[in-house]
Amino acid sequence: MTYFNEIIRLTKKYIEQLKADGVDRVVVSEKGKNMKKRKKNIADGKLKKLAEEIKNCKKCPLHKSRKNAVPGEGNPEAKLMFIGEGPGFDEDRLGRPFVGRSGQLLDKIILAMGMKREDVFIANIVKCHPMVDPSHPDERGNDRKPSSDEINGCISYLEKQIEIIKPKIICSLGSVSATTLTGISAPLGKLRGKFHDYYCSPRIHSGVSHANRIKLMPTFHPAALLRNPNWKKDAWEDMKKIMKEFNGKGKK
Ligand code: SF4
Repeated sequence: MTYFNEIIRLTKKYIEQLKADGVDRVVVSEKGKNMKKRKKNIADGKLKKLAEEIKNCKKCPLHKSRKNAVPGEGNPEAKLMFIGEGPGFDEDRLGRPFVGRSGQLLDKIILAMGMKREDVFIANIVKCHPMVDPSHPDERGNDRKPSSDEINGCISYLEKQIEIIKPKIICSLGSVSATTLTGISAPLGKLRGKFHDYYCSPRIHSGVSHANRIKLMPTFHPAALLRNPNWKKDAWEDMKKIMKEFNGKGKK
């Protein structure tokens, strides 16, 4: 009996045994494209479930004045995540992140990096619009930075999103996002322009595996770039560092 026949005989015997044990179906492991698609669907499902939770969240007072919570949107397997501080007037109206003038500029930046908005994931530190005067939610220019209580109440949603998406790089937009994600209380000018480490949940900065570490590049918020166009050059330098990292040229 050849070696090949022996394998067939043993396989048949094994299947008979499975049948005898009541097994009526054998699942063959998925490979290649199917496996990738399945993984993407699972991540998408988890993000959608989380988004529903966020839309119904009443953990902090910001829920009282919001029109819509803004969970975030994009590719569930994005290599790059952009994270701002919180939704503004337009985002609150549409329930989508970065859709006003700042969003248009962010779209241009993403395009200039050779990607599309659908390739990345865009989210915020807090998911509801922080307002100076919550009794006038219909006024434009009623924006403020989120308080530390609001950030602490909301941050677990973002942490879960990062954990699901597992991006290669996070780009934080503005000082609130930079200080929250780096854990360093310093002006943006001191934080931007270089990679920091972000540690995926559990957020402990020691004793975590290398797989939990994500590169984090803080840069300017697009709204700040609209107010100070002369900062655009520096912001572009930051984006170039991200692109270099993706091209494998940033590795030491
Ligand atoms: S900001 Fe975050 S914690 Fe506060 S109500 Fe909205 S989703 Fe909930």
